[in-house]
Amino acid sequence: MELVRQDEEIKRHVLVVDDEMVNREILGNFLSTIYNVEYASNAKIALDMLTDPDVDYSLVLLDLMMPVMGGIEFLEHRVNSEKLKTIPVIVMTSEKDLEIKSLKLGAADFIAKPFNVPEVVLARCERIVELFENKRIISHTEKDTVSGLFVKDYFFEYIRRIELLGKQIPRDALVFDIEQFHLVNEFCGRTFGNMVLAKIGEVLQERLSSMNAIACRANADTFYVFAAHQDDYCELCCALQKVISHFFNISNIRIRYGLWENVSRDFEIEAWFDRAKIACNSNRGDFSRCFSHYNNELHAKYVFEEMLIHDLDDAIANKDLKVYYQPKYNIVGEKPRLASAEALVRWIHPKLGYVNPGEFIPLFESNGLIRKVDNYVWKEVAAQIRKWKDMYGKTIPVSVNVSRINILDPELESKLEQIRTKYELSPDEFMLEVTESAYSENMKRLVEVVENLRKKGFRIEIDDFGAGYSSLNMITTIPVDVLKIDMSFIRDMEKDERNLKLVKIIIDIAKFLKIPSVAEGVETESQLDTLKNMGCEIIQGFYFSKPVPPKDFASFIEEEIETRKN
Ligand code: C2E
Ligand code: CA
Ligand code: CA
Repeated sequence: MELVRQDEEIKRHVLVVDDEMVNREILGNFLSTIYNVEYASNAKIALDMLTDPDVDYSLVLLDLMMPVMGGIEFLEHRVNSEKLKTIPVIVMTSEKDLEIKSLKLGAADFIAKPFNVPEVVLARCERIVELFENKRIISHTEKDTVSGLFVKDYFFEYIRRIELLGKQIPRDALVFDIEQFHLVNEFCGRTFGNMVLAKIGEVLQERLSSMNAIACRANADTFYVFAAHQDDYCELCCALQKVISHFFNISNIRIRYGLWENVSRDFEIEAWFDRAKIACNSNRGDFSRCFSHYNNELHAKYVFEEMLIHDLDDAIANKDLKVYYQPKYNIVGEKPRLASAEALVRWIHPKLGYVNPGEFIPLFESNGLIRKVDNYVWKEVAAQIRKWKDMYGKTIPVSVNVSRINILDPELESKLEQIRTKYELSPDEFMLEVTESAYSENMKRLVEVVENLRKKGFRIEIDDFGAGYSSLNMITTIPVDVLKIDMSFIRDMEKDERNLKLVKIIIDIAKFLKIPSVAEGVETESQLDTLKNMGCEIIQGFYFSKPVPPKDFASFIEEEIETRKN
């Protein structure tokens, strides 16, 4: 019983349009063995029935001579209707002239009247239904419903076919994506996001034929274009930029492009776009440019970064990541005294040698791997402080960097607390440096994190203070324990009056808040004197020491312990 019902459900709908009841009955009799047959006695009724959104017709069998509205008039209507054009029509006639006319008007086939052999009629109907369904499936799957462009697989397939026709023609692979598009979906909803993508698709499509190009939406907000080589893409970029400016008035959301000009046929088609994508990604977060060309230099950088990503787990397991310590000196008294230290990670790579944190920290921040690095560093540092404490009976506070990416981790507070308690450290021995940029990115979460951590006793230093635009705003919202003046101000303060003033303002703000200010990047005695005169309390920089491995740092601690004794 169950089976029969299912069969009924999947029976396709066929509409027989004929004014003669006898014909309707004959056809209905044998068609109903495999179809759900419905009837209309003229084309006008048929048109009404076919526009019913609740029924999907798979086929129309159409008589030509009918009262009210005949078959030819029906076909003329159908040519102009997107929906009706997807439903095949078989014309039933006995007149040769009309047969030709109706085929020209888009009829898929014809059946001669009277109907002599029912099996033949049925077979023809089935063939046409199948043909149209295949066509519909193909056009449905090859195009992305949101943008109206090809989907990736078909895009690559068509490139393969285009390439078969002429490999000597120079061609370009262009990739572009919308930076921060996730914000659009998050804040404006998917429907709005899709509207933007649809408009991008439309603007792109309007230009494809003049560029001799095809395009696809490769995924969410990434588009690929394969075009005959163009001198430039200014017109396209401008048109797309207009779409973005029309929808958004913030500069965070923008389109970035990567181009591999004159692709090399020595590489696979997918690789052309991988490379254009590398160029595209190289603009990430760099607001000074949005269009990059793929070149060897970029490729080398890409290979290097891929290697770092690939090797990170091994580096952690083999302890190739080393933690160095840079002392911070209190300069308030006669003689500078070791006050604390900052833990800074280094990577001694087995093949690449020393890798600068500037090369891997931003990379791992961009893909979230920084959480692994930080976790590792925090544990190493906690273990090291414990060791020094056991060795010397006391120790100095060490601050670790907490990447802005970690701020979003809901388990951040508990992770830090676990590490601290595991090594039995007091909260003021294990301090946290959080960069100011974390505030502008996610103010609400940062305020929450800082409050929770302070409740647990942690002390928070605001790193790179003054560099972001939210400095003042931030310190009025969150209570913090230390301000670290951004290194760039210190570097330029003796050359540039403005920087000097800024440093002074930050030191005064810290005083007003009754917290110490730290100047980092101090390299010379004259910088130190200037800062001291302005009332800065703590100094970190090459003037005192570069970051050093723990065994070298131990001598700084020993020296401090000696001084305390005297
Ligand atoms: P940062 O937190 O602002 O660290 C200070 C940077 O200034 C360090 O660079 C330090 O070596 C450098 N520095 C210190 N004194 C001087 C000086 O007198 N002159 C000059 N020119 N530079 C000085 P480093 O170690 O290369 O680290 C760069 C950045 O990488 C750090 O900036 C920090 O943002 C990040 N970083 C380092 N280690 C970690 C880590 O374990 N976790 C996270 N999340 N980030 C880290
Ligand atoms: Ca820092
Ligand atoms: Ca800093």
